[in-house]
Amino acid sequence: LVPSQSAAASPVIRKKLMGFVGFSNLPNQVHRKSVRKGFQFTAMVVGESGLGKSTLINTLFNTKLYQPKEPLPPSAERPKTVAIESISADIEENGVRLRLTVVDTPGFGDFVNNDESWRPIVEDIESRFDQYLEYENKVNRQKVVDDRVHACLYFIQPTGHSLRPIDIEFMSRLHTRVNLIPVIAKADTMTDEEIADFKTRVLADIAFHKIHIFQAPTYENEDEESLAEAEEIASKIPFAVVGSDKIVTTPDGRQVRGRAYPWGVVEVDNEEHCDFVKLRQMLIRTYMEELREYTDDVLYENWRTEKLLSMGVVQDSTVFKEVNPAVRNHEERVMHEAKLAKMEAEMKMVFQQKVAEKEAKLKQSEEELYARHKEMKEALDKQRGDLEEKRRRIESGRPLTPEGKSSTGRKKGFLRT
Ligand code: GDP
Repeated sequence: LVPSQSAAASPVIRKKLMGFVGFSNLPNQVHRKSVRKGFQFTAMVVGESGLGKSTLINTLFNTKLYQPKEPLPPSAERPKTVAIESISADIEENGVRLRLTVVDTPGFGDFVNNDESWRPIVEDIESRFDQYLEYENKVNRQKVVDDRVHACLYFIQPTGHSLRPIDIEFMSRLHTRVNLIPVIAKADTMTDEEIADFKTRVLADIAFHKIHIFQAPTYENEDEESLAEAEEIASKIPFAVVGSDKIVTTPDGRQVRGRAYPWGVVEVDNEEHCDFVKLRQMLIRTYMEELREYTDDVLYENWRTEKLLSMGVVQDSTVFKEVNPAVRNHEERVMHEAKLAKMEAEMKMVFQQKVAEKEAKLKQSEEELYARHKEMKEALDKQRGDLEEKRRRIESGRPLTPEGKSSTGRKKGFLRT
């Protein structure tokens, strides 16, 4: 192998190995490590009570995580807000441990006024992000507990119409915080045709309101099988599900998980009867790790950026920098002072300009006055000269011309005493 100069600039050189080195075992190492450590997964279920949330979770994980709830007696005081309840269980399959936490939201949509039903749920999801951020900032980060919600199953009532305002409000508020997986509850209450129509309308509503729901990701260079699987899963969204943790006998004698009706049996694990299998495939078999990754890389990261920015941490092109509040205050004060100084200079300039204008005006009127004074003085001087001349002539006894000027000939009556 040619040693590379720099990772960014070096071209990828494909080489054939001469023998077995052993790094093809890396996936097994990762696998062994993951199995040893176990996995954590947190799923949230949201929807009105009675839509089959507890039943579906039990069906999905094939466990009695939820015990059937006793319905409240009519006289009992009903809760007035949405509650958040978490149940955790360690489940194991073929030696792989999964710490499953299910977050239930009893009360959602159950009140007369459901305007704010989404709020406690958003707060719960964000408080889990908060907690994770706190763990991350700890000096010792060995035992980070990841309580973040990795997926939210949103149960849509099988109305056959379209999404209701409460569904749109909830999904719009939550889609930037959690992987939304919409499911149509109790799909056995609708015919195949009704389900297909309902799905089309729900998807149109979701697209219209620009709600982002979790999509099975596809990657470049992916094999045909994976692409086909992703496409098939995507084609079933929103999943029309039927839940049941009971075993029933089909007319042909098979023991299946399903719901028995007088006219037949709805099989939960039969893809022709409902989308339960595809939902499980997406949530557990194929994309559990993708859901965890998307939560960490995108949803949590976006929330973290928003949070840090709101706390006064600024982001430059590559790294976050903490800003010391004292430094920020000083900078703000300097900026304020500079602004004041600029305003003062501007005011001074305007004042000087005004003074100069006034001075110029005064000078002009002074000159005008001076010119007028000079004119008057000259006129007076001239008048005085004329009078002087007159007096002299009179005194010398010379008569004045008819125009008032003196002449050499005397004229009677022209003389004044
Ligand atoms: P939750 O209040 O949403 O948790 O609902 P539950 O899981 O307690 O279910 C309420 C009722 O609906 C129970 O009687 C269930 O047996 C029933 N149920 C649950 N899932 C389904 C389903 O897929 N189809 C039908 N028809 N009924 C269901």
